[in-house]
Amino acid sequence: LGGHPKGGQSSIRPASVKSLIAVGSGKGGVGKSTVSSNLAVALAKQGRKVGLLDADIYGPSQPRMMGETKRPASPDGKIIEPLKAHGVTFMSIGLMLDPDKAVVWRGPMLMGALQQMLSQVNWGELDVLIVDLPPGTGDVQLTLSQRAQPTGALIVSTPQDVALLDARKAMDMFNTLKTPILGLIENMSVFHCPECGYEAHIFGHGGVSKEAEKLGIPFLGALPIDLETRLAGDEGKPIALGDGPMAQAYAQLADRLVQ
Ligand code: ADP
Repeated sequence: LGGHPKGGQSSIRPASVKSLIAVGSGKGGVGKSTVSSNLAVALAKQGRKVGLLDADIYGPSQPRMMGETKRPASPDGKIIEPLKAHGVTFMSIGLMLDPDKAVVWRGPMLMGALQQMLSQVNWGELDVLIVDLPPGTGDVQLTLSQRAQPTGALIVSTPQDVALLDARKAMDMFNTLKTPILGLIENMSVFHCPECGYEAHIFGHGGVSKEAEKLGIPFLGALPIDLETRLAGDEGKPIALGDGPMAQAYAQLADRLVQ
């Protein structure tokens, strides 16, 4: 294993992309896609040229979260034109698949799909391409790390022990593959009751920042459990588009990520 293409394997990193950031998690459902779409929007709002690739083969949720479900055009049958949503150049494996059919692909097919999404999509000049990975430590992560030379990986976890346990495995994988870990984000860190202001630590408290400290990895920030975030994602209008406290939190995360 290693972070660079092995003999005979060509790079699948688009040459016009300055920085490729993989967003991973150990466990599913921790908010990896929510964080990916909002970070993409926050970076675009700061004037950067941003791409978002939804590579979550088994559960592509970005078409819904970015509010863009058109099938991308491919006038010559080879190069695929990405979509544009909320100022972000956007492509999802979900746009090429039947949304109601399960994906039952073996490793080589997954690798082929990832390769296509990176090297046959007309990404254009991008400052940052955010790649929303499937959860876990499988073929997609391996191929991306070995053949697309990510600038680094961002790990999203909730403070819950089971989520952190899996996040550790994801980080171990990126270490083995020599993909630098850019930082850890704690999502669903606290719930502020809108009625009484009580702070409920539904999934535990402070686990992710402690883990980051232990491993010597930057802790980029904590995001609360927030109804508006969930509603905005379901409506295809990421909360970072607005100017409320969550949009500000994402703007801060974006600053820390690219500083
Ligand atoms: P993953 O990509 O890790 O599987 P998602 O981003 O799809 O996770 O999030 C899972 C669900 O939790 C989605 O319905 C999403 O809207 C919701 N969600 C994610 N983060 C938050 C948050 N901070 N507050 C409220 N709901 C959230």
